[in-house]
Amino acid sequence: MLSRRAFLGVVTPSRELPVRPPWALAEAEFLTTCQRCSDCVDACPTGLLVRGDGAYPEADFTPGRAPDACTFCGECRQACPTTALSATATWQLKAVFSSDCLAERQVVCRTCGELCEARAIHFPPRLGGVARPQLDASACTGCGACLADCPTRAIRVLSPNSIAYRGVA
Ligand code: SF4
Ligand code: SF4
Ligand code: SF4
Repeated sequence: MLSRRAFLGVVTPSRELPVRPPWALAEAEFLTTCQRCSDCVDACPTGLLVRGDGAYPEADFTPGRAPDACTFCGECRQACPTTALSATATWQLKAVFSSDCLAERQVVCRTCGELCEARAIHFPPRLGGVARPQLDASACTGCGACLADCPTRAIRVLSPNSIAYRGVA
């Protein structure tokens, strides 16, 4: 579980790297390759990509913004006039659950599990308590579908390299 402190972003935001579109090159290379044209933002059919700091594109998984998830359709990659989105693999984001999850209040909720097409969220039975969501990290694609309808905004998708993720790993 992600601690409330970490979940609420008690980290220095400026030290966290933004989430770039899937297939983005490593950050330093991305920044020198991307032309900040926003073609990828305009091409994204789900509205996940936004124009971020410095006009560089970012994936906005802000809880409550409720964007549609990334479908890995590749439209952003195809629209990019540079090699900025030419990595062979997509991002390595993983879902994390905070202590705001209803299961922590002994309330049954399986919304996130129902939204996960990758079936990466399981609810192992828990003696004397409500089952908590448990992530199969190897199955999670970081698409973000699970967070959109979470009633308590208890889910984030984070890079395992991020400070917030390392705080709970
Ligand atoms: S792969 Fe598709 S849905 Fe995902 S960020 Fe790119 S354009 Fe948007
Ligand atoms: S389409 Fe490519 S060059 Fe243009 S903002 Fe997106 S990543 Fe950068
Ligand atoms: S981010 Fe996507 S794949 Fe990962 S748990 Fe959420 S819905 Fe499933």
